[in-house]
Amino acid sequence: MRTLQQILRRIDGKGYGAYKELQRRVFHFGQFDLYVDHIQGDPFAAPSRFRIRVPQSIAKFPPSTYATPSRHVALQDFLVRRFWEASRQYSERRGSGKSGQIFIDPPGQEILERSACQVTQEYVELRFFAGLPAAGRRILGHEAEEMLVRVFPRLVQESLLYENLPQSALVRHIETAEDADAARDALSRLGLVAFIADGSILPRRSGVDDRPMPSDRAIPFQSPPSLRITLELPNRGKVTGMGIPQGVTLIVGGGFHGKSTLLRAIERGVYNHIPGDGRELVVTDPTAVKIRAEDGRSVVGVDISPFIGELPGGVETRAFTTENASGSTSQAANIMEALEAGSKLLLLDEDTCATNFMIRDQRMQALIEKSLEPITPFVDKVRLLYRDYGVSTLLVMGGSGDYFDVADTVIAMVRYQPKDVTQKAKEIAQQFPTRRQPEGGATFGAIPRRIPLPESLSARRGKREVYLKARGTRTLVLGRQEIDLSSVEQLVEDGQVKAIGEAMVYALERYLDGRRPLHEILLQVMKDLKTKGLDTISRIPYPPDLVAFRAYEFAAALNRIRSLRVRIPKPS
Ligand code: ADP
Ligand code: MG
Repeated sequence: MRTLQQILRRIDGKGYGAYKELQRRVFHFGQFDLYVDHIQGDPFAAPSRFRIRVPQSIAKFPPSTYATPSRHVALQDFLVRRFWEASRQYSERRGSGKSGQIFIDPPGQEILERSACQVTQEYVELRFFAGLPAAGRRILGHEAEEMLVRVFPRLVQESLLYENLPQSALVRHIETAEDADAARDALSRLGLVAFIADGSILPRRSGVDDRPMPSDRAIPFQSPPSLRITLELPNRGKVTGMGIPQGVTLIVGGGFHGKSTLLRAIERGVYNHIPGDGRELVVTDPTAVKIRAEDGRSVVGVDISPFIGELPGGVETRAFTTENASGSTSQAANIMEALEAGSKLLLLDEDTCATNFMIRDQRMQALIEKSLEPITPFVDKVRLLYRDYGVSTLLVMGGSGDYFDVADTVIAMVRYQPKDVTQKAKEIAQQFPTRRQPEGGATFGAIPRRIPLPESLSARRGKREVYLKARGTRTLVLGRQEIDLSSVEQLVEDGQVKAIGEAMVYALERYLDGRRPLHEILLQVMKDLKTKGLDTISRIPYPPDLVAFRAYEFAAALNRIRSLRVRIPKPS
């Protein structure tokens, strides 16, 4: 620490480049080591990277707080949140540009694995960005000393020492994640695809604010008796709630009665949520993929023939490629790609579906004969999908009763409360037959297997070998390709998009060899991540800002690269 102090005093007033002397050095403070991983080029450039490492002999986290994978992830997530709050408090303007600012992506409502924090038996490590102080390009040594030598130790005091943390909040964070994981693990054993605990708060504060709706307005979830199940969780003990069985489930109900809100909570149930979120015990099959229409997206070599037959002009749909998909073809491609990536649960909301993809009623069948309609509607395929591949569907559909015939379970949302109306819907289906002609054929059809061609993908941009840029959760730039992720709805944090970018470069270097099919590439990358952690996919050592993602969002990003080309292997 004294050495650091001396250096900062010596370079005070010099040109910004003199900061480089600190790069890749470690400074020993009383309670921790400060690693300087990268020094920025000037106060306006991307900020410098630091790591603080506190030995467990000082941090003193009891092994029980990180003994299992659930707990480990939750503890790290908690520490990132504490550090983020403390950094808000101590971040201040200390000169030009980013001088004096401490940067760490704000964590949202989900408890996620984050590269920013690493807890091991030996140490607790926190990684972050900070702007080294200068006036113009002239180093402000005194300000730097304030920041590095006085503020950093305070961050450690407030966020990285077990005894200084609010223990009950920490325990709650850990136990909440552990219970959610236990509940999610129980789903398949119980033949369920989702569970929503009684008392859950599903609505959010607003469309742009993911925090819960305040309790004076939100109506807590209450399960209908016929779908009620009890789970025994490690911390909360017995919890009741609604279990949604495997198969085809409809969510019906009048407009504004809470259908989409329920589905959105289920979409997010692939992640764990922080205490107080309201969705702590809303858990979903981890392979669930939200499906929607996404006209304008590119599609490359996807077999959409289960849904779309030959298009006008003789366009082939067994390896369908377009720069500009329609509502129905984009939705078909989204489904087929989710199946290719291994999803066992599709989530659809009529609000974001293409109508002609979802339904084709008796009258339309009479007016437009089958030979002139390339689309086989989802209603004719949804059961075959479950029968042939065991893939369940959960569908919000308030506008058409044609789905009553194909549903196993029908849930009506009435004033934000679910009712089991399966029996009634079945009776109505008998009483008022749709007289539709089934158009789905005898089987669902094949799931695509594609081999991405490495020469079609490049991270290069101009002189830079690798160019990656994430713009929020909506856009990822890889080389010269801008990937539109705005319709990939289960991405929740910027850090996931950054990590997906890194994973693409990683996969390009290792697994994208022109021989491996896409699903194998996904498996490989996810396996590496599971065994070696987020650091393995990073180009730089000790990345501060990567967040765990799922294979489905990774696949979604790859599938939206407009330069992508694929080869279809011969069926063996
Ligand atoms: P639908 O899809 O059935 O038309 P939404 O799910 O979009 O309805 O919900 C309509 C409105 O009701 C939204 O503004 C939502 O925030 C609110 N809402 C949903 N569920 C609840 C609830 N449990 N308590 C209070 N408000 C809710
Ligand atoms: Mg809706």
